[in-house]
Amino acid sequence: MTITTLGLPRVPRRLVSQATQPPSTGPLVDSFGRVATDLRVSLTDRCNLRCTYCMPAEGLPWSAAEELLQPDEFIRLLRIAVARLGITKVRFTGGEPLLTRHLDHIVAATAALRPRPHLALTTNGVLLADRAEALARAGLDRVNVSLDSVDDLRFAAITRRDRLADVLAGLAAAHAAGLRPVKVNAVLDPLTGLDDAVSLVRFCLGHDYQLRFIEQMPLDAGHQWRREAAVTANQVLAQLRRHSFTLEPDQAPRGSAAAELWRITDPATGRAGKVGIIASVSHPFCSTCNRVRLTADGQLRSCLFAVEETDLRRLLREGADDTAIETAWRTAMFGKPAGHGINDPDFVQPARPMSAIGG
Ligand code: SF4
Repeated sequence: MTITTLGLPRVPRRLVSQATQPPSTGPLVDSFGRVATDLRVSLTDRCNLRCTYCMPAEGLPWSAAEELLQPDEFIRLLRIAVARLGITKVRFTGGEPLLTRHLDHIVAATAALRPRPHLALTTNGVLLADRAEALARAGLDRVNVSLDSVDDLRFAAITRRDRLADVLAGLAAAHAAGLRPVKVNAVLDPLTGLDDAVSLVRFCLGHDYQLRFIEQMPLDAGHQWRREAAVTANQVLAQLRRHSFTLEPDQAPRGSAAAELWRITDPATGRAGKVGIIASVSHPFCSTCNRVRLTADGQLRSCLFAVEETDLRRLLREGADDTAIETAWRTAMFGKPAGHGINDPDFVQPARPMSAIGG
């Protein structure tokens, strides 16, 4: 049976395992038959904001420089991922990836791989205004900018920094540089988020940005997340309907996309566009997951919520050849869990916070 509260099919609680060993060639499959084609690479665990749902005001103990992968190490792993493992899309994340000096170099080297992967960046946008043009020239295709409120005071309260104007300038620069569609990722504050939802929709429709609401997940450094406090996808849709926005499910096939897309029209202005809903908690989409993650210190994570990691940095620095790294990668992915298990009573939050995993 399909349940369509959000227009999303519910995920089976357990998928059926189909094989007992990872293949040595071909696509990057897990034991449930899912194929990973989307690699998310965290380039740093540092950040220049201090979002309340992510890290404490004083920040976190950052990784030491020698613990982080060097540009040539990132590029070697990216080459193995694309040439041997079938990765077709690479997203650079952090922390805040624009804090890394070598970002343009890594983007250019990744764009030169064949078959050329699609290249995206998730950033808080604070430093984007001065970097968007060069990143587009280096080969970046798109950006997602995290922005939870377009109200100055609320932005400063959420991020503990007064940088909204910089983020808005970054968005405009990305659009002007052709990094389209420019997407805005919003995680709504439990107290004020539903008001922010309305103003974010109006702002994004007015600037040709595609807004995506993301349910807050238990990946905060302080382990303070409470399910009942988080704003759900259904609450967002109800709020938009209360404000008379017209919403219709987008008919394009969703595939492995995290976001369910809706066609939205603002009755006040007549502006129309699309808005995405990423209902990671209330309507998980793990059964179609195609993602794998590499942390800035070279640990492979088969799932955002994995409690085990595979140390590719050690292999790199011990002189392992490409085949050994490929084998370790395939073995790690084969053990990917069926899903995040947030809704299970025995759920265990990963020790690493989001800022040290990458979104
Ligand atoms: S929680 Fe894990 S399995 Fe589910 S969508 Fe995210 S990465 Fe994929």
